Amino acid sequence: MRAIQILAPGRIEQVELAVPTPSPEQLLVRVHACGVCRTDLHLLDGEVTIPRPPVVPGHQIVATVVESGDADGAPLAAGTRVGVPWLGWTCGECRYCRDGAENLCDRARFTGCDIDGGYAEFAVADHRFCFPLPERYGDLEVAPLLCAGLIGFRALRLAGDAERIGLYGFGSAAHIIAQVARFEGRRVFAFTREGDGATQEFARTLGAEWAGGSRERPPEELDGAVIFAAAGELVPAALQAVRKGGTVVCAGIHMSQIPPFPYEILWGERVLRSVANLTRADARDFLALAARAPIATTVRAYRLAQAPQALADLRAGRFEGAAVIEL
Ligand SMILES: [Zn+2]
Ligand SMILES: [Zn+2]
Repeated sequence: MRAIQILAPGRIEQVELAVPTPSPEQLLVRVHACGVCRTDLHLLDGEVTIPRPPVVPGHQIVATVVESGDADGAPLAAGTRVGVPWLGWTCGECRYCRDGAENLCDRARFTGCDIDGGYAEFAVADHRFCFPLPERYGDLEVAPLLCAGLIGFRALRLAGDAERIGLYGFGSAAHIIAQVARFEGRRVFAFTREGDGATQEFARTLGAEWAGGSRERPPEELDGAVIFAAAGELVPAALQAVRKGGTVVCAGIHMSQIPPFPYEILWGERVLRSVANLTRADARDFLALAARAPIATTVRAYRLAQAPQALADLRAGRFEGAAVIEL
């Protein structure tokens, strides 16, 4: 099969690999689309470590089941369309798994990082971590829901019941979460790179009532904020924009150094926290919501061989919404 591998930091190429063989717990799936995530860029750049390179990246996999293993339980039947997200396996035994926080599992394995992902014609995935997808979405448009949407949704929930929500960095995740927030009756304030009028206009079309540069102060104070961009300097900016008791959530897996800031902008019981990975409960909750909410994803499609270009375009901010590899 054709696949894209990251071999070492900065080295990505197309290769021919044998079609993988599923273990009893795994499904063999035929990949139709795979969303491109900023985490893929962090893996390519070595900012997030790949334990055993080379690896096939890609953790927003839209696929159909070709063959299900013979494990107990109810593996998804051949022909079922499934989504395969970032969380690929958990131990089920550690304190986090037992406490309903499997996203923090000490031995978790992640798709497209520890386990070969979806930048390939076929993949294998543990059936307990695969999810049927809402029928209202096509393969390309549903792909960004599997990480940008899903982990963005977890981040939005961790911001509490904030009515006025700030979204810092208006890319793949924010363009979905803005719509979810509007669906939930929240008011959205979008922050982009300074002077990026096109993205600010894009944010307004998705329901943001205000859009501006990330160093600007919004017209009123916010009840919470989610930072999707990997820029540490946004942390003090977001803390200054939220009211007393408000929460700022850092949603990325990697962020540049956070600059020193005066204690007074955290004072007033403001909360600063990260969001890490997802649980299967998040996936079920979010996909159920996506089946009801009309989320319109904006996607830029790339062929498999164009994956390096897709990552370069993501780095340079050359498109609105999400990049998706189409197979
Ligand atoms: Zn991701
Ligand atoms: Zn565990």
